[in-house]
Amino acid sequence: MRLHQSRFDVSKGTLELALECIAELEDVWNRIDELVFCNQVRVLEAFGDTRISLSHMWPSTGYGYGDTGRDGLERLFAKVFGGESALVRLAWTSGTHVLKTALFGLLRPGDVLLSVTGTPYETLRPVIGIEPGENGPSSNSLAGLGVRYRECSCLVDFESGLIDSSEMENVLAEHIVEDNTVIFIQRSRGYSSRKTISMESMRTFMEILNRRWPNVLTLVDNCYCEFTHVYEPPSLGVSITAGSLIKNPGGGLASTGGYVVGPEKYVDLVAESLYAPGLGKEAGSNPYGYRDVYQGVFLAPKVVGEALKGACFASLFFSRLGYKTDPGPFESRGDIVQQIDMETPEALIALAKAVQAASPVDSFVSPEPWDMPGYAHKVIMAAGTFVQGSSIELSCDGPFIPPYSAYLQGGLTKEHVVYACMKAKDALDELGIAPAGRT
Ligand SMILES: *Cc1c(COP(=O)(O)O)cnc(C)c1O
Repeated sequence: MRLHQSRFDVSKGTLELALECIAELEDVWNRIDELVFCNQVRVLEAFGDTRISLSHMWPSTGYGYGDTGRDGLERLFAKVFGGESALVRLAWTSGTHVLKTALFGLLRPGDVLLSVTGTPYETLRPVIGIEPGENGPSSNSLAGLGVRYRECSCLVDFESGLIDSSEMENVLAEHIVEDNTVIFIQRSRGYSSRKTISMESMRTFMEILNRRWPNVLTLVDNCYCEFTHVYEPPSLGVSITAGSLIKNPGGGLASTGGYVVGPEKYVDLVAESLYAPGLGKEAGSNPYGYRDVYQGVFLAPKVVGEALKGACFASLFFSRLGYKTDPGPFESRGDIVQQIDMETPEALIALAKAVQAASPVDSFVSPEPWDMPGYAHKVIMAAGTFVQGSSIELSCDGPFIPPYSAYLQGGLTKEHVVYACMKAKDALDELGIAPAGRT
């Protein structure tokens, strides 16, 4: 790529480093193009198979009975994700809300929730009842309802190569003491330093489970993972796969909402949990129409590809600057999250401010660490997004604890990510900040 420095407000050395990184990533970016191609065809064929037409984009009101747009969208999601049935609703505010609804739909008093990927994402802890929420412990948590909770990390350890599949089965046997267990799998790393669960590991895990514990249900938190592989968890026999529409599957266009996919009987339980027993999937209107969601899922494979390319770039660029990055630039990826250990509060703030300043919306705003609801420590967040809180758009979150890791994710175009990284380097240089070991 030939870009002339006079076109950019970045230093010469920074632009040169960026161009070197882009050249080095040629093979990685080409492989992402192949992934995008497969997934674009998967989505396109699903549109054809479900006979989506313009009339599906129309709004509905009130109870929403006979809402063809909603029904078409759910058939489309079921097809794209390889499941029998889907619930795709704008009534869901966030991923946490979707997962909460699914947990309450599947679990009954006396049941056991078993997380096999360690302690779940921060905002889910008050839902389970293992940490207090903003207003203290809630009797509305799963624990308050009489659901017991256990956890292990056997799927993470398998992914990391620490144990093999027979050891994983042994760990499961220790923890699955009763059939009334629902297994929780968080594929993405979230704000943690573990590996993302690949679809290959998911397949091995589900083979063990389906063979030995066929009555045990599974709930997969698929946030950030959609379209990073050529197939999705529902096709492996997962009971419920859940995610947020303002992450990957909304393609940057969906303005709110979430989805679950799985066998009809489990999706129906989630629908009852969201609405009411007796209502289920038949109710639920949307007075604004469905075009953004349809168009968003159509674009999602490409947008996820851009985010993946941006993440690979950020990993290489910051590792060249001397920061520890995970995943590494050439590692395979199962989500769009890039961890960069910024080492000091100053460096993390500088990165967040640079990402914010390089955003299309609210570029003039300066992010500060704050006590975000649902999180145990201060978090700094940069998100100059069109949709509030959207993290398929370029955004950067950093929990304010050592090693001051920045979790960079999203980017509707890879060029946006590259530019933001360049601006961050210039800002760090200007402040004289360098990682330990470099001066
Ligand atoms: C984003 C995310 C969630 C849900 O978060 P919301 O901010 O409520 O959408 C849950 N789990 C993981 C792994 C996530 O990345």
